Amino acid sequence: MARYIGPQCRLCRREGEKLFLKGLRCDTVKCAITKRKYPPGQFTWGRSKLSKYGVQFREKQKTKRFYGLLERQFQNYIKKAERQKGNTGENLLIILERRLDNVVQLLSYAPSRKTARQLIRHGHITVNGKKVDVPSYLVRVGDVIKPKNCETSLNIVKSNIELLKGRNISAWIEPKADVPEGVVTQLPTREDVSIPVQEQLIIELCSK
Ligand code: SF4
Repeated sequence: MARYIGPQCRLCRREGEKLFLKGLRCDTVKCAITKRKYPPGQFTWGRSKLSKYGVQFREKQKTKRFYGLLERQFQNYIKKAERQKGNTGENLLIILERRLDNVVQLLSYAPSRKTARQLIRHGHITVNGKKVDVPSYLVRVGDVIKPKNCETSLNIVKSNIELLKGRNISAWIEPKADVPEGVVTQLPTREDVSIPVQEQLIIELCSK
């Protein structure tokens, strides 16, 4: 029988690699991936090799989980990516990376995308001076993202920035040094997307 080793997060163990979905917990010893490198379940070692479909499906699920999306939202993003010129897989990841909840997390205003979504829905974040409470808002070049000008919002964001000091911020977003404010200086490229995924497999699966 599997030995109980205390509270743990199993989210990424299914994927077999760290996806950093739980904010601060992911950098501690409580991370299940750090503790055990194999997937959960009693019969883990007996699992057969994944089929081609299985691998494609896993890449899709991984991406949905990483960005916190439901199937229908994900399908809409694929349609949007298909309508754009260029590589559909890359287009898809770039669109997802531009989501406001992702940007808020990248700016260290929140430890995870899930917390970022909550901050946005509660009206703590503004874009170009206007409150935006839609986590799926896609940022554009020149957008200025900052917390609402009220004590509660500023306190939440400032304490998270302090807590997450040292995290790398993507090259396409420029944070100001003295105030919690970030500017989108360019659109992200595939290299800016941190999720370890083979996007081509997702497109192959979804175009069947
Ligand atoms: Fe959980 Fe984070 Fe570890 Fe993934 S990386 S298993 S989300 S604690």
